[in-house]
Amino acid sequence: MAKNTTSPIIVLFRQDLRLKDNPALTYACQTGQPIIPLYILDDENPGKWRMGGASRWWLHHSLISLNQNLKAKGSQLFLYKGKTLEIISGLIQRYQVAAIFWNRCYEPYAIRLEQKIKDLLPRSQSFNGSLLFEPWEILNKQNQPFKIFTPFWNRCMEVESIDDPLPEPHRFITKKIESESIDSWKLLPYHPDWSEGLRKNWDVGEKAAHAKFNHFINRSLKTYDYDRDIPSLDSTSLLSPHLHFGEISPRQLFHATKNIPQSDKFLSELGWREFSYYQLYYFPQLPEQPWRHEFSKFRWEKNPSFLKKWQKGETGYPIVDAGMRQLWETGWMHNRVRMIAASFLVKDLFLSWQAGADWFWDTLVDADLANNSASWQWIAGCGFDAAPFFRIFNPILQSEKFDPDGVYIKRWIPELAKVPKAFIHRPWKASPDLKLCYPSPIVSHDQSRKRALEAFKEIKKDYR
Ligand SMILES: Cc1cc2nc3c(=O)[nH]c(=O)nc-3n(C[C@H](O)[C@H](O)[C@H](O)COP(=O)(O)OP(=O)(O)OC[C@H]3O[C@@H](n4cnc5c(N)ncnc54)[C@H](O)[C@@H]3O)c2cc1C
Repeated sequence: MAKNTTSPIIVLFRQDLRLKDNPALTYACQTGQPIIPLYILDDENPGKWRMGGASRWWLHHSLISLNQNLKAKGSQLFLYKGKTLEIISGLIQRYQVAAIFWNRCYEPYAIRLEQKIKDLLPRSQSFNGSLLFEPWEILNKQNQPFKIFTPFWNRCMEVESIDDPLPEPHRFITKKIESESIDSWKLLPYHPDWSEGLRKNWDVGEKAAHAKFNHFINRSLKTYDYDRDIPSLDSTSLLSPHLHFGEISPRQLFHATKNIPQSDKFLSELGWREFSYYQLYYFPQLPEQPWRHEFSKFRWEKNPSFLKKWQKGETGYPIVDAGMRQLWETGWMHNRVRMIAASFLVKDLFLSWQAGADWFWDTLVDADLANNSASWQWIAGCGFDAAPFFRIFNPILQSEKFDPDGVYIKRWIPELAKVPKAFIHRPWKASPDLKLCYPSPIVSHDQSRKRALEAFKEIKKDYR
């Protein structure tokens, strides 16, 4: 702990853009020392995984919201853009900073950076603000990491207690320093401004996150188990971007729902989030390399035209296209449709899961290195506890099952508005009199399926 009580403590905000249940902020305030609330936009440290376009839009609004909440406490958020270590070293010299407090991140580049920050100021402290369980706390009987979700989550649920969420701190003393202006960062798209759909669909920030969570508890939690797979119902929590940016914490969600009888399924989805972070922690190559090494032999195709059609929602398969258009318009896609669209890219178009993950990274407002990488590997069949490669989603049957009346499809593909229910999943069979401005399927699912199974035979001998 810092000895000089007048020297300030930097609270380094990253994926914890909130005041409530923020251990780094709370414990820094408890020292009684002046606080420097700081956010650094560092595009170098993450390398390839610098934030994508939709995330930058969200970040802009989330930082403004955090600053407003800090101002209500008589404080403010100070902003810098550049290399984290250089900026922090400069601030330490200039303001005689005593320590840096932060909530841990789990991306491999963030872990490396945190170690270097600790080396700069050994009295610094890090906290768990993003997960229910630290990855190193959950091990099997042989003291090894789990590879399968169910035993992992069962073990998590045996842990005696999860800390209660912390209240937001009272007013605290702020050490004022120079700050950059968020507008100079140009996080928002200007030419062209593609963000209208984001503006229409999202309220960003800590208050908005809690409002959405309360709405979800009151309206959808009780039926979540049944309704969560139906994309037209809007019955999932829509909390993923708020969770990613840390505007609300998993501890807050856990404690608010754990005693509600129908909450198990929702809690186990939070469990999948934990499991993704767990995978990234124990296999830091997760974003780039298949966890099942035999998949590195797989020969993916390079077909820019197919990739573009998939990205634009012009594959001719309505459920896939509806999902991809929802993603482009709103920065979010329903989980069931994410699975169908991702499977289509990998197993029908033979394009690599990494190409799909890159597009999601740029377009999702909830783009999250752990969740995105783990989910894509799950779909491709090469990740921890993944769906086997030979289990191939049929986009027509999935569509019939989860969007039987085509309500979701028609919401996102207005060209299909007049198609009768009988043809909504196969519009190419509808009467030519309808004169649909909608593409024919770019591949035949039946042929692609056969081809995928053939290709899989090559790696099957190593697959257990
Ligand atoms: C190919 C693919 C890519 C994905 N990429 C991301 C991503 O970049 N970021 C992201 O947050 N999620 C990702 N997911 C997981 C999931 O689709 C989203 O978390 C979910 O749709 C978010 O909606 P929600 O908040 O309404 O979820 P809810 O159903 O309300 O679930 C509550 C929370 O649990 C977590 N969660 C739910 N499902 C999953 C899951 N399958 N895996 C991990 N965590 C889960 C999320 O944090 C979510 O906010 C991806 C899934 C697939 C199939």
